[in-house]
Amino acid sequence: MSDKVKKMQEIAREILEKGEAKVVIGWEKGTHWYLSPPAFIDKPEEVERLVWDDFCHNNLSKYLKDYVNHEGKVAIFVKGCDSRAFNRLLQDKQIERDKVILIGIPCHGLKDQDKAKELGENADIPKAKKCVECRYPNPLVYDYFIGEEKALDEVAAASEARDFSDVEAIETLSPDEKYEFWNKQYERCLRCYACRNVCPACSCRECIFDQTRVGWIGKANNASENQFFALTRAMHVAGLCIECGECERVCPMNIPIMLLNKKLIKDINLLFGPYDAGVDVDGKLPLGHFDKNDPEEFM
Ligand code: SF4
Ligand code: SF4
Ligand code: SF4
Repeated sequence: MSDKVKKMQEIAREILEKGEAKVVIGWEKGTHWYLSPPAFIDKPEEVERLVWDDFCHNNLSKYLKDYVNHEGKVAIFVKGCDSRAFNRLLQDKQIERDKVILIGIPCHGLKDQDKAKELGENADIPKAKKCVECRYPNPLVYDYFIGEEKALDEVAAASEARDFSDVEAIETLSPDEKYEFWNKQYERCLRCYACRNVCPACSCRECIFDQTRVGWIGKANNASENQFFALTRAMHVAGLCIECGECERVCPMNIPIMLLNKKLIKDINLLFGPYDAGVDVDGKLPLGHFDKNDPEEFM
């Protein structure tokens, strides 16, 4: 067991024994060696389930919303992207800071789960794409901190190498080619909503896709309904997406969802200046306030 895991378990045990929180949310080993799903620990004797390894992908801040109406505090482990998601939820007043105990854990960059499954346990498994591009591996907010922050020069190198080339490649296509590209992707969509369910930015109490009686979206699995779903979901997380890549990771049909998210991030940066969601908790949201100097090129 690594020192980090020992420390995780020690902190979780102490929190639960002292009754500082009624549940600690971390990661545990799943049904396969390349899966480390969320763990919800509420007894000190169960902290040994907690792990920290190359597959702790789930963004745990997502689960805080399940506890907003509960008495007492919740403790969660946060890597860089989880902490950005936490800040986003705070900005939207979806959670209260003093009801959460944050245990920060700097992230070494996780491995690609699909490649792990394909290549096997002893292979040299590449990093997940989101982690190669990550610019915030260190938790931005925490009450406890485990280990040492990832060196800032590595983080700066990732910032300089910010890569929108995949988005730019799509931008060069004609409208018909773009339609064909996205139609090919989303004709495979099952509308399982796993991408929505895992997303910490999808935090509406009533989701448009669940309002079946109003009829915003039909049940039919066809190009038109699927594209409506894809575009609406992407627009609803515009300016809120913290680039944790969870939507794309969990998609059973390998739809390149991050391409849509990144397109919106790129456009927001272009129109409103550089912006990283969930970094400055007191900052203004680019799509959340009005400024007379905002471009209005469509009017
Ligand atoms: S996006 Fe960054 S913080 Fe999140 S898992 Fe990857 S390297 Fe870690
Ligand atoms: S996870 Fe993939 S298949 Fe499921 S709704 Fe989202 S895009 Fe469609
Ligand atoms: S849209 Fe995807 S990348 Fe963005 S916050 Fe949601 S799950 Fe993470």
